[in-house]
Amino acid sequence: MKSEIVSFGDIALSKKIVNALSDMGFEEPSPIQAKTIPLVLEGDDVLGQAQTGTGKTAAFGIPTIEKIDETDRHIQALVIAPTRELAIQVAEELNKIGKYKRIKTLPIYGGQMIERQIRALKNGIKIIVGTPGRLLDHINRKTINLSYVRTLILDEADEMLDMGFIDDIKTIMSNIPNENRQTLLFSATMPASIEKLAQGYMNKPKKILISREHLTVPLIDQIYYETREKFDGLCRVLDVEGTGKFIIFCRTKKNVDDILASLEARGYMAGGLHGDMNQAQRQRVMKKFRDGKLDILIATDVAARGIDIDDITHVINYDIPQDHESYVHRIGRTGRAGRSGIAITFIEPREYRQLRLIEKLIKHKMIRGQLPTSADVLE
Ligand code: ADP
Ligand code: MG
Repeated sequence: MKSEIVSFGDIALSKKIVNALSDMGFEEPSPIQAKTIPLVLEGDDVLGQAQTGTGKTAAFGIPTIEKIDETDRHIQALVIAPTRELAIQVAEELNKIGKYKRIKTLPIYGGQMIERQIRALKNGIKIIVGTPGRLLDHINRKTINLSYVRTLILDEADEMLDMGFIDDIKTIMSNIPNENRQTLLFSATMPASIEKLAQGYMNKPKKILISREHLTVPLIDQIYYETREKFDGLCRVLDVEGTGKFIIFCRTKKNVDDILASLEARGYMAGGLHGDMNQAQRQRVMKKFRDGKLDILIATDVAARGIDIDDITHVINYDIPQDHESYVHRIGRTGRAGRSGIAITFIEPREYRQLRLIEKLIKHKMIRGQLPTSADVLE
């Protein structure tokens, strides 16, 4: 039996990486990190599944950076992520891990001037974190060279391989040499069909599952409210819960805009995020929310995957998610890195079926809450 890994020092990591982790406040590896880092260092393909907020970024980031050859000036690793915000966030974390090794990571995403990215790419970049569309754009323009990439990572792999992205990913992969390519897939959810599809692109992958029994983090209280008056209900919940950092998920961009306007009209400090906004607007809102200048972020599922803001106290599903995995990802924006959180879902009377299907997936019963009355709010 191998002895248990309790610190980063127990893994064969260079001093430069261990020091960078210590600067980041990472004292010991999370379970997914302890299991996957040694495998990735050995060169295995890995399919990694662990709950939201358990450190999957560093699970692939640490060994990938450890293996980068500083003397080779080509791009050696490529991370593909489903949204712009996630690409930026992952690149930030990899830059922190690679700080002392001086490994530079560049995010490549739509909505940013491509010329700026083309210039930046000439700057000794060793790792790219990109969204599929913009990566394809660079490939078509021949402004990116992936022929020296040895590690390919799909973050939120199930989402990426879902219908919309599969062809893009295939094209991107055809630009990476097959021999010696190491492929890593990470997500909190991995439907069987998607996993099977993914296996076809991997070389004898080692499958690491952490805590499959419950997809959601136990420290998140999960409550639902049945009401026909969702907006009034939302305002009362916000008032009764008081201070906190709230993320509210809606089904459509229009709902995001409408609810934002209604909340702003009532004096709440809120911002909206969806795919019709330009990149500058999206980044401005995310920054304000991160910095605490906004208490409430109203978003479509564009913000459901991967986004790590460490003090989100409440996730509110104003509209119940259409696909069940999405529930896991949405509520996973709270309860990160061992913290607690509250997840609230509003349903209309006809939506019980969807609620039950979600409960079946997460193997957990949500608590039925009584909406606060206006008297509760006045107190
Ligand atoms: P996931 O991808 O699993 O949802 P993230 O990679 O976004 O989770 O990590 C969640 C949070 O935990 C981040 O803020 C990250 O910096 C932090 N974190 C990751 N690994 C560790 C660790 N070993 N020790 C302390 N904090 C960590
Ligand atoms: Mg993640």
